[in-house]
Amino acid sequence: MKKTFLFIPILLILKIVPAQNPQIQQMVNQVNSDSMWSYMTTLSSQQRFSYEKNDTVCRHWLRSFFERLGFDTVYYQNTVITQMPNVIAELRGDSAPDSICVLGAHYDVFAYKAPGADDNASGTAGVLEVARALASHHFRKTIRFVCFSAEELGGGGGSHYYVQHSVNQGENNFSMVNMDMISHSATGNEPPIFYVAYNTISQTLFERMNLAMEQYVPGADWIDGSSYPYASASDHASFWEAGIPAIFINDCLDPNSANFNNFFHTFSDVMGTSVNNKPLTEACVRTAAALIAELAVVNSFPGSVIQNEMALSIYPNPVQDYLYIHLEYGLSDIRLLDLFGRTVLQVDPQNSSNITISAEHLHPGIYFLHALADGRTLKRVIVKQ
Ligand SMILES: [Zn+2]
Repeated sequence: MKKTFLFIPILLILKIVPAQNPQIQQMVNQVNSDSMWSYMTTLSSQQRFSYEKNDTVCRHWLRSFFERLGFDTVYYQNTVITQMPNVIAELRGDSAPDSICVLGAHYDVFAYKAPGADDNASGTAGVLEVARALASHHFRKTIRFVCFSAEELGGGGGSHYYVQHSVNQGENNFSMVNMDMISHSATGNEPPIFYVAYNTISQTLFERMNLAMEQYVPGADWIDGSSYPYASASDHASFWEAGIPAIFINDCLDPNSANFNNFFHTFSDVMGTSVNNKPLTEACVRTAAALIAELAVVNSFPGSVIQNEMALSIYPNPVQDYLYIHLEYGLSDIRLLDLFGRTVLQVDPQNSSNITISAEHLHPGIYFLHALADGRTLKRVIVKQ
């Protein structure tokens, strides 16, 4: 009997992850711990206690940071609670500006002259760094970068005021991401695994965060911290109270873990001992950047110029029956011209991105497809078989 070789297939468990958007990957890669360390060093040296009036150096520094990035809208929001304002920078959406996602962190400290390096110069530096990475891009929805005041006074402070004011104005804050303490681990050498807390209404947002991390931040991971006592002890809780999905990113929510930061709310919360893990900080902030960019939806073709000719895809070509046309930006007019320049077919796609046209009745030969999108005509040669 002839010997038969059996090839035993090796079963691979494949995780199917949607393709990355290269533009988002580029933003994520901009996030850099060295620049965040420099922001934290500056912030830790500034007066940030809400009950003292001399926080002006810090609020000016935050405001001018956003202004230097070219944000059109940067403002102080007086919270009534203390003299210290929320500092807000807005990147207005191109096509759905009324849908707002918030990236926030409190910048105040628990006591007069407290350094508050991990709590929460770290999260504030994360907000600034994401703003830097996203500032030159366009999004369909609005992103608000918010440095909250008065979190340490309890009751939500600046974030509570922000939410109440925004809800009263009828604004739609559809998602919020909060970073509070993101730079500490036991020795500083632990792997980049952060804690995340969410509630029932934030389940989908949490899943999108997980996906964004898997797609754009290789090597990072999270632990579900939703059941720990501190899970609701920061600004995201103000959004939860108003029924707004929000997630909380933190370095360690488990008080019994060696990685828990016992320096918090002490005068030893300083650079070095308390803020010590750069890869962990990068993992938190890169994940936040990817998630915010996904939530706000990158607009690859802002303004009136379509930057990439290749963005128009047409198949099959040569065509027999049906021609499929795709352009992310949306098409307003499709024409097929023959070799004499006569229009043989015209369709109004009404700004949809995907069009199917029938080519059945066309005579075999060569045609020119003209696709009009946002005032510009993209052209392709089509062969009918
Ligand atoms: Zn804090």
